[in-house]
Amino acid sequence: MYPKIFLKQGKEKPVRARHPWIFSGAIAKTDFNEPLSSGEIVDVYAPDKTFLACGYYNSQSQITVRILTYKPEPIDANFFANRISQALNLRTQLGLNFNQQRSSTTAFRIINAEADLLPGLIVDAYGSFLVVQILTAGMERLKSLLVKVLDELLHPEGIYERSDVEVRSKEGLTESTGLLCGHLPPPRLVVYENHIPLSVDIRQGQKTGFYLDQRENRQTLARIISSYFDTSTSPFTALNVFSYTGGFGVYAAKACPNLHVLNLDASPEALELAQENFNLNNLSQQASYQVGDAFHRLRTMRDQGKCFDLIILDPPKFAPTKHQLVAACRGYKDINLLGFKLLKAGGLLMTFSCSGLIDTSLFQKVVFDAAHDAQRSGKILAKLGHAPDHPLLLSFPEGEYLKGLLISVE
Ligand code: SAH
Repeated sequence: MYPKIFLKQGKEKPVRARHPWIFSGAIAKTDFNEPLSSGEIVDVYAPDKTFLACGYYNSQSQITVRILTYKPEPIDANFFANRISQALNLRTQLGLNFNQQRSSTTAFRIINAEADLLPGLIVDAYGSFLVVQILTAGMERLKSLLVKVLDELLHPEGIYERSDVEVRSKEGLTESTGLLCGHLPPPRLVVYENHIPLSVDIRQGQKTGFYLDQRENRQTLARIISSYFDTSTSPFTALNVFSYTGGFGVYAAKACPNLHVLNLDASPEALELAQENFNLNNLSQQASYQVGDAFHRLRTMRDQGKCFDLIILDPPKFAPTKHQLVAACRGYKDINLLGFKLLKAGGLLMTFSCSGLIDTSLFQKVVFDAAHDAQRSGKILAKLGHAPDHPLLLSFPEGEYLKGLLISVE
C-alpha cells in the first residue's frame, strides 16, 4: 500500500520482537526510485517478502523507520482514533480521566510516544487543555490529522504545541510552539495532582509545563516523611534542589507541618511559580527560595556548616549524548557528594537522574561513590521510576530515563 523497504537477513527479528526502531544499517533495499521526503509512511518487509510493519521513514535520521503498526493498515484518522482511545483506556485504568473536574489528578500524560505506539509524539493533559509535543519529521507530517482527531475525541478547550526541543534538529526540524486549535491556555492554569492544587505555565514552563513523570515519587516522599520524622520534636528542614516550581517541596511541607523547605533553582521564573504553589496550598510560612547555581550554592552551604533533615536532588539531564557520559557521572557524583555532606545523621536523601544513558545500576554506583567520599553510609528505602502514565514498552528498554533512590542516611 505504501512504498516498501526490505530488511537485511536477521534484521527482521527485533521488529518481530516489537522493537519500534529500524536503523539505517538494517535496510537491504527499497522499491522506490525517487528518494522519499522526510516522514513519509513506508511498509516494512522481511527478506522473505512477508509483511512486518508500517511506519514512517526519515533518511536524515539514524533511526530511519519508526514503527506505527504491525498490521497492514492505512495511517489515517481511524488509525489515530484507535491508538488514542487505547492510550486513554490505559489512563482510565490508572484512574486518570481527561477533563473531569472532580478528579484528584487533572494533569497527566495521555500519549507517551513509543510506549503508546505513537513514536515521536507526547500528549499531556492539563485540566481542560491538551499540550502536544512532536519530536520527529514523521509525526510532524501527521500533525494536522492528529490535532483533528484529538479535538473530535476529547473536545479540549484548546490544544497547544510545545515542540521546542533540541532533538527535533536531528530530524531536520526547527522548534515550533503555539496554539493548534481552540482557545489559548491562560498564562497560569491551576491543575490538581493527588488533590494538591498546582499552578502551571503551559506556554512558557519547562517540558510541557510540569514534570508529570515525578507525580508518584512526590507522593512516595509525602507518605514516608509523614511517619519518618518525629513530628513532636523541634522543626526540621528540607532542601529542595532543582526545585523547579516547588512540586516535591509542596508535598513535603503539606505532609509535615513543622517542616521548612528551602527551594533552590537556577530559574527565577520557576521559583516565582514555586512561591505561588506554596501560597495556593497555604504553606507560605513553610517555604523560602533561593535563585542560583546548585553546585555553587551547595558548596557555600557546606562551607557555612549548614545541614538539613531532608534533601531532594532532581537535576536536569546531565548526559544528553554518549560524549557527555563521563562528565555527567562527575556531575551526579558532585551534587550527591554535596547532598550527603549537607544531610544530618538520620536524614533522608531523595536523588534522581533523568539521563536515559545512565542506567539504574550505574546511577546507584555513582551515588554510592558519592556517599563513600562523603564518609556516609545509608540504606535504600525505595527505588524510583516514572509514574505509570509514562509507561515503558517491555520490548523497548531505551524508553527508560528517570530513576531515583530514596536513602536513609546514617
Ligand atoms: N523537581 C522538579 C523538576 C526539576 S527539573 C519537579 O518535580 O517539578 C530541573 C530543574 O533544575 C529546572 O527547574 C532547572 O531550572 C533547574 N536547573 C538546571 N540547572 C541548574 C543549576 N545548575 N542549578 C540550579 N538549578 C538548575
